Amino acid sequence: MNPAGKPGKTGNLMVVEEALARLLEMADASKICERERLPLAQVQGRVLAADLVSTLDLPPWPNSAMDGYALCLSDWTGEPLVVSQKIFAGQAPEPLKPGTCARIFTGAPVPAGADCVEMQENAEVQTDERVRFTEIMKPGQNIRPQGQEATVGELILPAGTRLGAIEQGLAASLGCAELDVVRKIRVAVLSTGDELIEPGQTLGPGQIYNSNRVLLCSWLQRLGCEVIDAGILPDDLATTRARLGELKDVDLILSTGGVSVGEADFLGIALREEGELTLWKLAIKPGKPLTFGHFSGVPVIGLPGNPASTLVTFALLARPYLLRRQGVKEVEPLKFQVPAGFVWPKAGNRREYLRGRLENGRAIIYRNQSSGVLRSAAWADGLVEVLEGRTLIEGDDVSFIPLSEVLS
Ligand code: AMP
Ligand code: MG
Repeated sequence: MNPAGKPGKTGNLMVVEEALARLLEMADASKICERERLPLAQVQGRVLAADLVSTLDLPPWPNSAMDGYALCLSDWTGEPLVVSQKIFAGQAPEPLKPGTCARIFTGAPVPAGADCVEMQENAEVQTDERVRFTEIMKPGQNIRPQGQEATVGELILPAGTRLGAIEQGLAASLGCAELDVVRKIRVAVLSTGDELIEPGQTLGPGQIYNSNRVLLCSWLQRLGCEVIDAGILPDDLATTRARLGELKDVDLILSTGGVSVGEADFLGIALREEGELTLWKLAIKPGKPLTFGHFSGVPVIGLPGNPASTLVTFALLARPYLLRRQGVKEVEPLKFQVPAGFVWPKAGNRREYLRGRLENGRAIIYRNQSSGVLRSAAWADGLVEVLEGRTLIEGDDVSFIPLSEVLS
């Protein structure tokens, strides 16, 4: 390990896993229990509140996987067979007449008494209209058995599953018109800083546009949260106190900026006054200062203000916290190993989340990794994780977290 990675150098920074474990523990202790029943079409992004158990066999009856002919192989003599019925999808067949076959189409119920479907490509209709089978057949072939996908009473999706297009489709296939979901988590978004103004206004001296507000509001909406846009908070203690006090009926206050131990750390002061503040210095870059506390009993997470820091700490810490409060078990994004397509000569004492892309199977990184540069993330497809104390040469393995994993 590089000297920079020695524990002494890491100082008293908290590692990412530790911070996440603490946040999840607090989320577990304040799970949202209220639920609502919603039409299936409206559950996108929501969390299932009760186990989804199948009330039917799926498919409800054996059906044909092919267009072809259903026959009873165990009784078949090898002779061409008369077609005794035609079965389309959506029809209820008669039992198969012994010594005959049935014309059958994909998705149609296999008639009782048939044990095999031969595809039409392997069948010849003779001039006398009887069907000759040209290939060797096996019992059960091209038949999708009853209950192949689900059986009555089977657990299909456990409570805590996040619902998206696939889960909606699956629930529909089981005949569910509505689902019980956890009520939306209410999140107030606060941007702090005297320097901030909103897009559309004219920049004055020393001012910058507020990018975190819309970034977080739109991200939270994608995550299925109810967003309360609490606007910009000036760097002023009385206003901070008053504004936090107005946000009593939310599940979380999510603020950005003002969490460094700088002079303008009014959020920290207000939380301290209210009795609860934990200020963590995290071994994460971009990032580092992160606040967790309560104001009048409402949990508050204060993310660092630089936009790339906001993005990384939201993705890796606040997002899992929010999901866990809704009862989601698997809250960490998928990551996988890829060879680095760049060199990392100097080991850091914080874990770096570089904004990167995959190119020809290798991770490459944006040229400017400053925490103030949000453009790096717009260019990127994912976060390239470089562990604390590590140096890299091209080809070394690094972890890659696709941004698509964390954005919804
Ligand atoms: P702070 O944590 O308040 O010291 O902010 C760190 C840096 O992030 C400063 O350069 C701020 O101007 C910037 N910053 C804070 N909040 C925002 C925001 N909402 N949008 C854009 N930049 C911000
Ligand atoms: Mg500030």
